[in-house]
Amino acid sequence: MSKNSCWKNIKAGIIHLFFPNRCPFCGGTIPFRSHCCEDCQKKSELWEPVVWKECADWHFDAFAAPFLYGMGAEQGVYELKFHGNITPAEHFGYFQYQCLVQAELTGFDVITAVPMAKRQKRRRGYNQAAELGKAVSRYSGKPYLELLKKPKQLLVQHTLSLEERKRNVIGAFCVREPFLAAGKTVLLVDDILTTGSTMDECARVLKQAGAKRVITAAVCRVSKEKWDLEKQNLEKYRDNMV
Ligand SMILES: [Zn+2]
Repeated sequence: MSKNSCWKNIKAGIIHLFFPNRCPFCGGTIPFRSHCCEDCQKKSELWEPVVWKECADWHFDAFAAPFLYGMGAEQGVYELKFHGNITPAEHFGYFQYQCLVQAELTGFDVITAVPMAKRQKRRRGYNQAAELGKAVSRYSGKPYLELLKKPKQLLVQHTLSLEERKRNVIGAFCVREPFLAAGKTVLLVDDILTTGSTMDECARVLKQAGAKRVITAAVCRVSKEKWDLEKQNLEKYRDNMV
C-alpha cells in the first residue's frame, strides 16, 4: 500500500469515528467502505431493478433505477430529499452506477441532474439529484456538469395528478450552455421516477440543445400500483419539507 493510500485510509477511519457511515436503507452503522448493512444486503433479491432500453414514447432513450419503490430504499430517499441528510446520496449513487453497468448503459459522456429552482435550493441547502449525479460521477469517472437550470419555481409535482404534472413542467427547464450538451450522450439523474414527466421535459430540452442521446437514472421507480402509497408516505413528510 502506498503512503498516500495508507494516509487516505487513516483519514477515512478517523472521519468514520466521528461521522459513522450509515446504511441508506435502515440507517444502521456500517463499515466506512460499505454501501449497506449485511441484513439489508440479504434482502437484495427484493430490490427489483427497473431498466427500460426502448423508450419510444419519451424524449429520453433509456432509463435505469436500481430499486422499485416500496422495497426499502425510499426511506433513504426521504432522508435525502426532506431531512437534510446528504449521506445516502453516496450509497445510492453507487447503486445507480452498478445498475447502469449491469444494464450496459454506461456509454454516456457527461452526467447532469434534474435542476432545482434557486429559491428551493437555497432553502434545502443542496439539490439531492445533483448530489446523486456527483456520486455517479465519482464511481463512473465521467464528468458531472450543471447542464440544466430551472428558472422558476413550479407547483410541487407530487401534489399533482398525472395530467397536471405533465402540464406543470412544460417550459420549466432550459439548458445553460447548449454547446456542452451538443453531440453528447447525457446521463440525467433524479431521485424518484414517478410519471416521468420531469425527466422527459429535461430530456426534451437537452435534445433540443443537440444532445445525441439521453439516458436517465433514478434511485427508485414508482410503479402505478405503488402510486397511491407514495402519495400517502409523502404526506407524512410534508410537515418537514424544506
Ligand atoms: Zn441496513
